[in-house]
Amino acid sequence: MLDESIAFGFAEPPVACRAKPDTLLNVVHELSLALSIVDTVNDVASTRGFARIDAVTLQIGECAGVDKDALAFAWDLATAGSVAAGSRLEFRDVGLNVRCPACGVERRPPSQWELGCPTCPGVAPEILAGRELHVVAIEVPNDVPDEGS
Ligand SMILES: [Zn+2]
Repeated sequence: MLDESIAFGFAEPPVACRAKPDTLLNVVHELSLALSIVDTVNDVASTRGFARIDAVTLQIGECAGVDKDALAFAWDLATAGSVAAGSRLEFRDVGLNVRCPACGVERRPPSQWELGCPTCPGVAPEILAGRELHVVAIEVPNDVPDEGS
């Protein structure tokens, strides 16, 4: 297990949640995301001496703009030939949480399309949670020798 999560930056941060385009197009989009996750996982594996990885857990915000089905589909392709080949990709969902800067109310919006404060029309909400995309855990086989401890 990793002690710290590894965050991925968005080249184009979603201001609000975007509509889901076609799933097939998403597979192409999420393949590049999967490849960058595999890069990170490879780095962690070589730093810590892991020869194989059984599972990778991602924390994904409801509003992160990630199509999980497409990402899961792209995973096998992205991990082929890497230490994570054949590994499971697991998701830990993070719900949306927004705060109104005008009245300070924090709430879970009824949907990703209704982020605005019900009592302060026209005030842009701050998104406190729901846009994250982190690798939070990497599972390795028990038989891997661990020289670190
Ligand atoms: Zn408000």
